[in-house]
Amino acid sequence: MLDAPVAVPSAPTTDEKLLAQALSGKHLIGGRLVPARSGQTFPVVNPATGEQIGTAALGDAADVDAAVQVAAAAQKDWAKMPARKRGALVAKCAEIITAHVEELGRLIALETGKALRTESRVEANVVADIFAFYGGLGSELKGESVPFSPDVLSVTVREPLGVVGAIIPWNVPMLLMALKVAPALVAGNAVVVKSAEEAPLAVLRICELLNRVLPPGLFNMLSGFGPDCGAPLVEHPKVRKVTFTGSVEVGKIVATTAAKKMIPVTLELGGKSPMIVFDDIDLARAVDGAITSMRFTRQGQSCTAASRIYVHEKVFDAFAAALAKRVDAMVMGDPLDEKTDIGTIISKEQFEKVSGFIAEGKATAGATGRACSAMPTDPRLAKGLFVQPHIFSGLSKASRLVQQEIFGPVTCLFPFNDWQAVLAEANDSEYGLAASVWTNNLQVGLRMAHALEAGLVQINQNLVVQANLSYGGVKSSGLGKEASLEAMLEHFMHKKTIMVNMA
Ligand code: ADP
Ligand code: MG
Repeated sequence: MLDAPVAVPSAPTTDEKLLAQALSGKHLIGGRLVPARSGQTFPVVNPATGEQIGTAALGDAADVDAAVQVAAAAQKDWAKMPARKRGALVAKCAEIITAHVEELGRLIALETGKALRTESRVEANVVADIFAFYGGLGSELKGESVPFSPDVLSVTVREPLGVVGAIIPWNVPMLLMALKVAPALVAGNAVVVKSAEEAPLAVLRICELLNRVLPPGLFNMLSGFGPDCGAPLVEHPKVRKVTFTGSVEVGKIVATTAAKKMIPVTLELGGKSPMIVFDDIDLARAVDGAITSMRFTRQGQSCTAASRIYVHEKVFDAFAAALAKRVDAMVMGDPLDEKTDIGTIISKEQFEKVSGFIAEGKATAGATGRACSAMPTDPRLAKGLFVQPHIFSGLSKASRLVQQEIFGPVTCLFPFNDWQAVLAEANDSEYGLAASVWTNNLQVGLRMAHALEAGLVQINQNLVVQANLSYGGVKSSGLGKEASLEAMLEHFMHKKTIMVNMA
């Protein structure tokens, strides 16, 4: 029934279930929605109810080869098009996405369990913004002139890399896809995206919408599992750049393959981001900041989530109490309901993993884990993968909850009294993605910002990714940058030197 041929709606729709069914069982290759060459599919499940909402094409090496071949052919003419014209087409992509924000928000809420009001609609708007931002940068693919000698003109020009393979995760799939696809296209590359197995449909819809504007073959989308579909994409000889967001473990596999092929790779991996709250900051502001930073509206499924919060001992108890009260007031429920703040965990596998961390924390001597908010009572959601947010205190630094990325609605609080000591604690992590410092003492704030080992440090705010700000981690959090003009120039193009001797 779920593979029944339902026409893909051409106009924006708010019937997310019909849309899921219409997109079922398809890749997008060469401008067309096509089934897997093997004819096989796998189920797509709504994590808020446990119901199957559709299927996705089960991609393998044959599908990868088909997509990469058409991408390589299409890229040749695309690279010859004036860059500004490519940008104009990418800006048009932003307009189509804007017209479909509501639809995309509903579809991503259905397949990921992320609440529409607090997360899913927001994500769809950010996707439009990313395409609009890069669409305006076509004229900025500039090289330099290099002083050499009076009779020699020496310049650098930037050229696209060819076919880019992009592998994305399930937590913010539309946004992370956009951060790869929009700059890759404006730079003159073609792209083959491998979606995450847990969330293949909304990104497929975006690909279908954008293929109404873009020449066929430039933007292709495959669904499937990592080893069967992701690995052959990285290995394909015509893929000349890989951009990956996901786990450290898989990031290392991707980097190893890229090294063997001698191709560049961008890796956005995990995080264990610290938030540091001093006693001079207004408590309400710090608590507001923690609510944004912890990303509990995304069930903590964010690599930049503040999963370690260090609070000055003078305000520790007041902060902990106020924070728990605020999280208590957040509503867990149906992701598509406008009243809902917090939706569900993405999959059973993640649900078990997160629940395991919480159980371990609760069983730790000397630690307390405060369960906040309340489980939904609607019987339709009885099989939903809801996890109550937990705020831990009293855990030791060695705890797995403090060392490892949980990717769930869990944070750990620690008291501190000395800024140098807390700085050392914050840096004592395998990860280095993001950090935030909350203080009115800007001398201390700035010193910490310089000393924190992270790709992004914010003082007195903790915003999510912005299109024009370079984003990416240090240490095990990854390699290279995304977002910003710099990321497009440095990671989706190479520089060629041309010298003309006019003597
Ligand atoms: P998570 O554990 O959150 O699922 P992963 O790193 O496993 O994170 O997955 C992120 C993305 O990487 C997904 O699209 C997944 O299918 C893909 N992936 C997993 N294994 C591989 C692999 N060996 N090669 C390439 N891609 C992979
Ligand atoms: Mg995985």
